[in-house]
Amino acid sequence: MSEYKRRLYEVEQFSHLHSIPVTTGHYNQREWFNAVKPYRFYGELSPRCHACYAFRLEETFKRAREQNFDAVCTTLTVSPYKDAEKINEIGKTLSKVYNITYIPSDFKSDGGYQHSIELSKQYGMYRQKYCGCIYSKLERKKYSLWSKRVQAFKESFDALNK
Ligand code: SF4
Repeated sequence: MSEYKRRLYEVEQFSHLHSIPVTTGHYNQREWFNAVKPYRFYGELSPRCHACYAFRLEETFKRAREQNFDAVCTTLTVSPYKDAEKINEIGKTLSKVYNITYIPSDFKSDGGYQHSIELSKQYGMYRQKYCGCIYSKLERKKYSLWSKRVQAFKESFDALNK
């Protein structure tokens, strides 16, 4: 929850500075854990993350429908830890389900990621060195028990699928 609160604080501060209204989705950590649980040992940029993108984008589409927004886009694609192609594929699928336009993006391309770093420095924003969830935080430490478990899972998965 504290990571979520820190990020929300940054969004609210920035939005306040630029007079941009903010609306937030429904935050439920337990539902998120349930959504990614079957894939938790897969590591980053894996089906675990695809389930995570879908969970978060669906929440965005729900909120867009409640508030009659014309379109949905996501800043998730600015992150080097995330797969923009997959995010856009999920966004397009949800667009059909909710009948709301999805605007595809890849904000990290063409120097976008570097620019985001410069902007966050300029505004004194909080940044972290992991994608966002507890799993990614543990996986930053190569020799953590969690990382070893993920590695062992990947090895047995690869061995089974040879
Ligand atoms: S927060 Fe990042 S690392 Fe964690 S599941 Fe979601 S996309 Fe993957």
